[in-house]
Amino acid sequence: MRFDTRLIHEAQSPDPLTGAVNPPVYLSSTFRQSAPNRAKGFVYGRTGNPTRAVLEAVLAGIESGRAGLAFSSGLGALTTLLEAFGSKSRIVAMDDLYGGSWRLLDHHRRQFGLRTEFLDLGEASVATKALSEPADLVYVESPTNPLLKLVDLRALARRAHDAGALLAVDNTFATPAHQRPIELGADIVLHSTTKYLGGHSDVIGGALVLKNRALGRRYAWLQNAVGAVPSPFDCYLTLRGIRTLGVRMRAHEAAARAVARELEGHRKVLKVHYPGLSSHPQHALARRQMSGFGGIVSVEVRGGLGGAKRFLRGLRVFTLAESLGGVESLVDHPASMTHASVPREQREAHGVTDGLLRLSCGIEDPADLVEDVRSALGRI
Ligand SMILES: *Cc1c(COP(=O)(O)O)cnc(C)c1O
Repeated sequence: MRFDTRLIHEAQSPDPLTGAVNPPVYLSSTFRQSAPNRAKGFVYGRTGNPTRAVLEAVLAGIESGRAGLAFSSGLGALTTLLEAFGSKSRIVAMDDLYGGSWRLLDHHRRQFGLRTEFLDLGEASVATKALSEPADLVYVESPTNPLLKLVDLRALARRAHDAGALLAVDNTFATPAHQRPIELGADIVLHSTTKYLGGHSDVIGGALVLKNRALGRRYAWLQNAVGAVPSPFDCYLTLRGIRTLGVRMRAHEAAARAVARELEGHRKVLKVHYPGLSSHPQHALARRQMSGFGGIVSVEVRGGLGGAKRFLRGLRVFTLAESLGGVESLVDHPASMTHASVPREQREAHGVTDGLLRLSCGIEDPADLVEDVRSALGRI
């Protein structure tokens, strides 16, 4: 079956008992045992739940992994990912990451003594040098949040494995509709399902997808031990979102392309970041490892913070809010919102300036989004 069909049918056959085409929401925290330690596959709701099990099977399937695990948030998934690493572990992470992921990795470094380095792994020479020494985990986003830098995942997987490390990829921005890191050699895929997989800005969730069963068993153990699990209803909402991922990503991408083209070359714009533009420094890599370019566009407007504020005041369709990936268009000011936890010098050193705005293009009519951006630029 092809990807769009699998989004709807993978691991989701009608309920054998009633024929219900949607998986039932099993609101039960515990399950009867016929004798001590003898149960029908489910024991206690933290350890497993039938609605969650459907979501987890779907997640594994659409990311081409052998095991999927659902969490109460993207950062709950990252916390659990990091639980497998101890005080002497060496972690090599991308320098441009979601602010909360950076904060959690930095917290683990200071609190538990993990040896974590933040580097521009998009540069082949930087990755080669960093992974000439043994490492335990390589952690990247591609495209990154908010600068939409790319990492050559196939090449990085090889370097990580040579160094003895696992490669984990946060695939929140691209989604499996546009990029499947495990097929490129990654060992672990992380998602904030809050974003495109949920797709409607109504549920917080996270996921890990593991390449093989051994990693699946290790992380299922940690998922139960840590306990950052989603409710059955949240699993249902996420499943409902995933079924329309294919059509939504096509619409998000069409809108993002139109908005990026409008921004590019405008006299109030200093820089546009979108992997789908031929001006993106890694456009060739994007074409090679992605089947679409996603729905996020970042733009640096003239006039720094003042320019950014005037632009924001001029928008009518885009809503100023954190988060991304929902059907409605959102705009974020990373320096003061999503990435405020990253120290200013560090932020600015890699391009998250006060004039930078991150646009999550929704699935409204692209012409309305283009008009909105055009009239807001006129306010600067
Ligand atoms: C939002 C986000 C996260 C964190 O996920 P939550 O669901 O908010 O905990 C991690 N990575 C990326 C790329 C994100 O955009």
